[in-house]
Amino acid sequence: MREKKALALFSGGLDSLIAVKWMEKLGFEVIPIFFETPFFSPEKAIRVANANNLKLKIIDISQEHLQMLKAPRYGYGKHYNPCIDCHGLMFKILNRYLEEFKADFLISGEVLNQRPMSQRYDALNAVKKLSTVGDLIIRPLSQKRLPDTLPIREAWVNKEDLLDIQGRSRTQQLKIAEELNLKEVLNSGGGCLLTDKGFTTRLKELIDKDQLDFDNIKYLKIGRHFRLNEKHKLVINRHHSEMEYIKNIISNEVVLKCLNIPGPIAVLNTTLPISEEIISLAGSILLRYCPKAQDIEIVNYGKQFNLDFTIKCNRFTDTEIDPYRIN
Ligand code: SF4
Repeated sequence: MREKKALALFSGGLDSLIAVKWMEKLGFEVIPIFFETPFFSPEKAIRVANANNLKLKIIDISQEHLQMLKAPRYGYGKHYNPCIDCHGLMFKILNRYLEEFKADFLISGEVLNQRPMSQRYDALNAVKKLSTVGDLIIRPLSQKRLPDTLPIREAWVNKEDLLDIQGRSRTQQLKIAEELNLKEVLNSGGGCLLTDKGFTTRLKELIDKDQLDFDNIKYLKIGRHFRLNEKHKLVINRHHSEMEYIKNIISNEVVLKCLNIPGPIAVLNTTLPISEEIISLAGSILLRYCPKAQDIEIVNYGKQFNLDFTIKCNRFTDTEIDPYRIN
């Protein structure tokens, strides 16, 4: 085993897996770290790490990530993905763990020119700058094409042992995956919600209303969404599994459910005082999604799942609902 040790940004995708395994093959100890945010969860990374005998560390960076998301210096990609700032932030945070893990340098699976926004030559430089620790970064898959950093200048790592991959094709990576006998090979880390069109439409809407906080973000992955007024939003579950999800995440929001017939629930996603008018509007929208509802029904409501209050609501038609739909 070499004397120097690396921390790796690990998404669970093929490139980050190769970066870790390649450095291990060269004799370095590498600690793979997955940074969790509300937009990127670790399940796939855990599966890939387990299949390839990696001791994955998971660190939640949600607070800092959310701050960055509000005003990324290098803007957003096709949807709402601030990839350059995101990578810069991740390296910056990774650097803070060097001491704790007694490591010496940082690696990632970034590949030159693989992604239009974040992996062009100038974008990799921007990531370096944002990270403030650019001189400690090695990108094993493309490092032969990149300027030397401290680990190479100090001969901790021999540049000739690294790779010269560039571009969008995965052919070389798949060949290396086979040579290294990698398991659970995924084309990408899989599923950053900031690249999902539907999700980011809802996210933008929250940002426009200045309501980007964890209480609101936690509902964005599920259900149908409606904007009732500047302050109040309504979410209605689509499937039973979404209702279970809501039960697990609910804090102090108001829940509505039709008294006499089975159907979905609605969550008024706010802790602000709510007028009867808003409750009635929420109930009318909810009834549209209760297939057996009559034109007028009693709807129960209350904080969390204590549905102690009732209100009589008119079932809305699709046309009446349309102005409130978010997407
Ligand atoms: S895809 Fe998501 S997690 Fe990956 S760099 Fe972009 S914003 Fe960050």
